[in-house]
Amino acid sequence: CGIFAYLNVDVPRERRFILELLFNGLRRLEYRGYDSAGISIDSDQRPPTSKSLSLRTPPPLVFREEGKIEKLVTNVYQEAYQSELDLELCFSNHAGIAHTRWATHGLPSPRNSHPQSSGAGNDFLVVHNGIITNYMVLKETLLRHGFEFESETDTEVIPKLAKFVHDRLSEEAADVSFTQVVMEVMRQLEGAYALIFKSPHYPNELVSCKRGSPLLLGVKDAGEEYAKADAFEADLTTANGIKKPKEIFLASDAAAVVEHTKRVMIIEDNEVVHIKDGNISIFKFDSDKARKPGGLSRPAS
Ligand code: GLU
Repeated sequence: CGIFAYLNVDVPRERRFILELLFNGLRRLEYRGYDSAGISIDSDQRPPTSKSLSLRTPPPLVFREEGKIEKLVTNVYQEAYQSELDLELCFSNHAGIAHTRWATHGLPSPRNSHPQSSGAGNDFLVVHNGIITNYMVLKETLLRHGFEFESETDTEVIPKLAKFVHDRLSEEAADVSFTQVVMEVMRQLEGAYALIFKSPHYPNELVSCKRGSPLLLGVKDAGEEYAKADAFEADLTTANGIKKPKEIFLASDAAAVVEHTKRVMIIEDNEVVHIKDGNISIFKFDSDKARKPGGLSRPAS
């Protein structure tokens, strides 16, 4: 029912800060109604710095709960305590995703909550607002290719399809982009959706897209945060003159973003948003024409 994401770019954030920000995003989406909630954050191990293919980025952590957001919050901190998860650990770059679910396919349960996963290793994680109408056909195809399903949701086909597409494309080319994978997935999907994808294959990147369900993007400009630090600003100015944001938000609802920034932009149907290293590219589905970044200053309506 509601999706939310938070990225911090070249600015240290403690895990506890990231968690609280994600939980708050969910609390702002609460009024839309929901029956379950979930989040995904990075694990303690750092992604490998080497480009070596043998080194794999550790699977992101996933927490899902049926019922109230506060139940999710309690459980995350309990699990964090039990598994000695370091809440003070600082991430200079991090991409977290969150979801409130209003079940359409599959009863409310932790298993049916989002993020939905591609399987062991969480190669692809997806939060989804909407309904995939052709999920049965896709599920049958994926089952034939050896995928095992854990939920009764329509959503689960999406991360599995992403893994299938990613693995296929990677056999042919070494540098498959996250956007390429998502566009290929979109080509297969029928129905209504706003989606956010997270993947350890693309650490600190997110791809989001929509058709029929609401989605918006918010940026907190480095210029606002470091208005007096000239040296910083010079560093952060990208080639097109737009200052690289330190914090980026995606949400199905302005309510989850306006407390952080007023620089909000509505994403339109068939647009695909790719966020990497603080650079935001917006593509029209099936075209590589990027939308003018100047649109970012368009005020929320
Ligand atoms: N159709 C999806 C499900 O039932 C998403 C529902 C929603 O928008 O929350 O899991």
